Amino acid sequence: MVARRIDIEGIVQGVGFRPFVHRLATELGLSGQVSNHTGGVTVIVEGPAEAVERFAAELPRQAPPIARIDSIRSEDTEVRSLAGFEITASERTGRGAIRVPPDIATCPDCHRELRDPADRRYGHPFINCTNCGPRFTIVRRLPYDRPQTSMAGFPMCDRCRGEYEDITDRRYHAQPVACPVCGPSLSYRPQSDLDPLDAARRDLAAGKVVAVKGIGGFHLACDARSSGAVARLRARKRRELKPLAVMFRDLDAAREHAEIPAEAAELLFGPRAPIVLVPRLPGCKLAPEVAPDTDAVGVMLPYTPVHALLFDGLATDALVMTSGNLSDEPICTDNEDALDRLGPVADGLLLHDREIVTGCDDSVIRWTDVGPLMMRRSRGYVPFPTRLPAELAPVLAVGGHLKNVFCMTRGQDAYPSQHIGDLEDEGVLTYFERQVSHLESLLEVRPEAIACDLHPDYLSTRWAEERAETLGVPLIRIQHHYAHGAAVLAEHGIEEPALVIAADGTGLGTDGTVWGCELLRIDGAEWERVGHLRPIRLAGGDVAARETWRPCLAWLEAAFGELSRDDLPEHLHHHLLSWPVIQGAMRMGINSPVATSAGRLFDAVACLLDVAQQNAYEGQAPMRLEATAVDTDYPMEWDLREEESALILDPTPALHALLAGFLDGVDVATLAGAFHGSFAQALVRGASQMCRDQGLQHVGLTGGTFQNSRLLCQVVAGIRREGLTPLWPRESPPGDGGLALGQAVAASLALGAGRPS
Ligand code: ZN
Ligand code: ZN
Ligand code: FE
Repeated sequence: MVARRIDIEGIVQGVGFRPFVHRLATELGLSGQVSNHTGGVTVIVEGPAEAVERFAAELPRQAPPIARIDSIRSEDTEVRSLAGFEITASERTGRGAIRVPPDIATCPDCHRELRDPADRRYGHPFINCTNCGPRFTIVRRLPYDRPQTSMAGFPMCDRCRGEYEDITDRRYHAQPVACPVCGPSLSYRPQSDLDPLDAARRDLAAGKVVAVKGIGGFHLACDARSSGAVARLRARKRRELKPLAVMFRDLDAAREHAEIPAEAAELLFGPRAPIVLVPRLPGCKLAPEVAPDTDAVGVMLPYTPVHALLFDGLATDALVMTSGNLSDEPICTDNEDALDRLGPVADGLLLHDREIVTGCDDSVIRWTDVGPLMMRRSRGYVPFPTRLPAELAPVLAVGGHLKNVFCMTRGQDAYPSQHIGDLEDEGVLTYFERQVSHLESLLEVRPEAIACDLHPDYLSTRWAEERAETLGVPLIRIQHHYAHGAAVLAEHGIEEPALVIAADGTGLGTDGTVWGCELLRIDGAEWERVGHLRPIRLAGGDVAARETWRPCLAWLEAAFGELSRDDLPEHLHHHLLSWPVIQGAMRMGINSPVATSAGRLFDAVACLLDVAQQNAYEGQAPMRLEATAVDTDYPMEWDLREEESALILDPTPALHALLAGFLDGVDVATLAGAFHGSFAQALVRGASQMCRDQGLQHVGLTGGTFQNSRLLCQVVAGIRREGLTPLWPRESPPGDGGLALGQAVAASLALGAGRPS
């Protein structure tokens, strides 16, 4: 007989960890106990040495899928001859990791029961267990117990209570546990005699648009194989071209349309069940209107019982499932609000009476040749934290302007919020405020500082200014690209000095110009801009981000000097007419900031190659350029030079080659591919030169431009060839959704270094 005490730290509460420990110990015939406490779980097991060893080895291996073990300490202890194995009452002292887990996709066991006519939850649209179901989105306040969730209004029936209280049951302490007797129910509008699911199926089969209430909000759904249905949804949602996500009946159905590597399938099937962007197959039967600008498709599998049931008896195996909102508004979560806002958009609404307390959009991951790239971190991930390399002061970081996410730090953890949206509209700002106070209350933390972007006009910045004043705490303004860099380094646990390539649309620089393709040397709270794209004047401010011909002519003029009609391809001729006026404004510096934006350079090339004349939504032109590009060894170079102690990356030679090639009739796919290659090569050359000069090993790759998988993969390969270590975002997005994490880390470091702005 031996006894062992095992302390486990990490995210091990509210994820079914104690029942799991109980099961494992009982299987191995061990006695002992398990208890929850601040920061973790403590297990004591007693029994034959061999069984205790097995237990210790299997514990991390078999842990529940959503748990995250940060550390395990194990020590021999005195044998007390405990009888049996018990779960002792949990102490609620101090603050451990957050006790509210993310929403978890329906688990395989529940899927099986859902389909089993002998099971009492056969066909029950709200089936869930300890391993799955809604969590974050139903919690009103702590502690995370049923009366504090929107399941409070559904008292458990005797059988459900029996399961809930039985340690050996899969539903032990599953807060949202429910059955057809005691659980929530579905309804359909317009009302009819039909079963609500049948009514929804009938409308979907008829090519109509149906709003479906899910976990973190409503989706707008329609048959993804019907051009008419998709076009109707787009017109009503006022989302003309931006790609729409598609939910497939199952993996086999998805594989008929998209190329899904095994690891991507694991993500789709996993507890987080994000949207995964994968390449479309040539035989793809989805309506072309689903994602006209890209050769990728956003794939989802049914992650709630309602989704799974919806596909039963439906002819189509693919439904568009896009956020239930009008473009730019926050996601709809409430029945009344949905009838109001989505009523005019949808032909029918599939509702249920379990309230969504907190909205949470679907997460999006892009599958690339170098693995998963986080695009939007939301449902399934939030509110779990990102582990930081060191403990930091508590800070609230408000994030950026577009694709806003905010973030709070506590101890050694940073808690990025769910996707909030574009902070351009009052509705989104209200949603933002509500979520900030909700997360503050879940974390029970009061920030010692507020962090925001340098840009004075972001709504988030203005809100942060007011908030800091109200709370009487310092406001720390963090430069945009430094924040991008701090985020990627923090998630990889890098504390030593590193180089970061931050490439994106725009962010305000410390010199008042617009930055967007930067080489930064980052050393904790210290950082320096050591290189950047050649700066040019961008005429038209925000208009320049929509109309690609503006950066195109600006770049061509920078590369060639005076522009003459005879030297330019025909599709640019009519823009030349407006050019003299713009030039005049540029010379006088009116609404034409100096910029080093990577996004605008991609826009310029997309325009030059006649691939995209506009950005109808953020990133459209670069996305089309990427979709056009093919692998090629067509020669294309950039010029790199030192200027005033910074390394300048100048695409002039590449622009010459692009224009000449285009006029010579070289095919556009080759030119687009060569441009990607030349850009990647310039970044790699610049980064490796800097790393050699400064003795750095790690190269962080971040900023919205790295959502481009072709660019990311080529830069990663190039950095590795140089013997350096590339790091790209896996937990927080490279785009502005990742800013808040970096702001929080940077501001905490500044506080620690005694340097509030
Ligand atoms: Zn389950
Ligand atoms: Zn029940
Ligand atoms: Fe950015």
